[in-house]
Amino acid sequence: MLKYIFLTLLLSCSSLQKKIDTNFISKIESDFFQTCKMKKATCNQFPISIQDLSIKRPLDGAVCFHKKEIVIDYRQWRDYTSIKKEILLLHELGHCALDLPHGDGIMNPELVDESYFLENKKKLIDNLFKIPN
Ligand SMILES: [Zn+2]
Repeated sequence: MLKYIFLTLLLSCSSLQKKIDTNFISKIESDFFQTCKMKKATCNQFPISIQDLSIKRPLDGAVCFHKKEIVIDYRQWRDYTSIKKEILLLHELGHCALDLPHGDGIMNPELVDESYFLENKKKLIDNLFKIPN
């Protein structure tokens, strides 16, 4: 019986992970920390977790909790384009890893326009590491 419950938990968890495209998240995360290293910036490391938060409270897709954890709200996340997901992750990484407050570019509370992001991606990411933290 216990074995069955465990297996059910494991299966439901892994199927959500599958839907969440963890490889996509890991890629953006590792690129970010690589840039951090290259820029010789100080970046906090923390887990990124994926939960269904829509029952608790609505989020804008993801949130940085206490600078310790990025929590992604699956129900909003699933409808985002991959570009919007990338912008959102970079925004939360800015809060969590670089302790950045809201500001211009990626740190704008209203996520930057997708085509603007694509055209200015390098500059926008560089700017994240320029703000003194
Ligand atoms: Zn924010």
